[in-house]
Amino acid sequence: MTRSDDLFAHAQTLMPGGVNSPVRAFGSVGGTPRFMVSAKGAYLTDADGKDYVDLVCSWGPALLGHAHPAVLDAVHAAVDRGLSFGASTPDEARLAELVKERVSAVERLRMVSTGTEATMTAVRLARGFTGRNLIVKFAGCYHGHLDGLLAAAGSGLATMALPGSAGVTEAAAAETLVLPYNDLDAVEAAFSAHGEHIAAVITEAAPANMGVVTPGEGFNAALSRITREHGALLILDEVLTGFRTGYAGYWGLTGATEGWTPDLLTFGKVIGGGMPTAALGGRADVMDYLAPLGPVYQAGTLSGNPVAMAAGVATLTHATPEVYSFVDGRSLELSAALSSALDAAGVDHSIQRAGNLFSVAFGTSANGVHNYAEAQAQDVFRYAPFFHSMLDSGVYLPPSVFEAWFLSAAHDDAAMNRIFDALPAAAKAAAQ
Ligand code: PLP
Repeated sequence: MTRSDDLFAHAQTLMPGGVNSPVRAFGSVGGTPRFMVSAKGAYLTDADGKDYVDLVCSWGPALLGHAHPAVLDAVHAAVDRGLSFGASTPDEARLAELVKERVSAVERLRMVSTGTEATMTAVRLARGFTGRNLIVKFAGCYHGHLDGLLAAAGSGLATMALPGSAGVTEAAAAETLVLPYNDLDAVEAAFSAHGEHIAAVITEAAPANMGVVTPGEGFNAALSRITREHGALLILDEVLTGFRTGYAGYWGLTGATEGWTPDLLTFGKVIGGGMPTAALGGRADVMDYLAPLGPVYQAGTLSGNPVAMAAGVATLTHATPEVYSFVDGRSLELSAALSSALDAAGVDHSIQRAGNLFSVAFGTSANGVHNYAEAQAQDVFRYAPFFHSMLDSGVYLPPSVFEAWFLSAAHDDAAMNRIFDALPAAAKAAAQ
């Protein structure tokens, strides 16, 4: 019995499934989830004192590596000034300014505490602004656990093979049109049939919750055009991609140069540097529909929390263009090494990529994965033995094939070499 075994057994008597977020339970890979006690740079240390090179990075936030000294200093200094004031603070505007400087599509920003709150508010705001009810989402895109967007939502639902969630009313589900990803004909058809009732299309800037899927050339640009033609809004969900795939997020890599602009964007993860902060932003005329200026209500006891703001400001300040070049390079090296190890073991696969985000899909080399149906049709069973072989070698992968692999600025040569050394055995395990 390991300490993690004991902790998991105890946790299961106290919390549903022993966890506070489903994928942490290792449901689809089996075995005992490792209970972590500390994190530094590229490494996590579990309750048994074993360390792992971390390829989850807190599901995205740890872009600079865990416990980056500048972020910790900023957080310690903020903690010393008090934990929460329930009033406005100077750092909120500082963080909003940093976001605006990087993402020109953001004219106004509202801080919230989680990505779910950001997308939930963006959806309500789109409905309030347009006076329409319907929301279009894509199968396999995850936008958090708000009722209306849980249909075919990828992420944990994909991991558990659930079509949606119990407890979502038919009325809430009926106001969401779920379309296949990368299918513009389906989008055009939905707008032809229901255009005057559609408030918004929400899409992940690049999907990373059904594994990574590359948006087809011009797909996001076409969504921008179609929504504009029909008086609907485009909500670009950058909770996962924002400030991770590049200095100005995934939109900065694509839309900003292609000449289209989303009406609203949502951010989370990196923006809080590991503290609970997220945000929505976009066109000033739309954002000003939020209370106190406008009629769409939204609020939060801990919104703009001073400790979280300090972490966010320090993280974005240190997330320089050099950090992104470094992470981009590491991502290419790792995906190439992964692919050669799988080739050498004779495991059919495709590397799914969007900017520096990537994941592996098994049995998909012929065409790759372009949508949720293709993601679900892969050889999912190959991932669990692959995952456990890597874990035994001290590499902590996402415990689901439907998640992206996350790197950081702290993944130095020693960390990368441990991963490279672990790959051949894991690839052989996947081959069985
Ligand atoms: N949107 C996307 C694209 C996400 O990946 C996530 C979480 O993984 C969310 C929204 C929800 O964010 P949170 O888990 O902070 O509620």
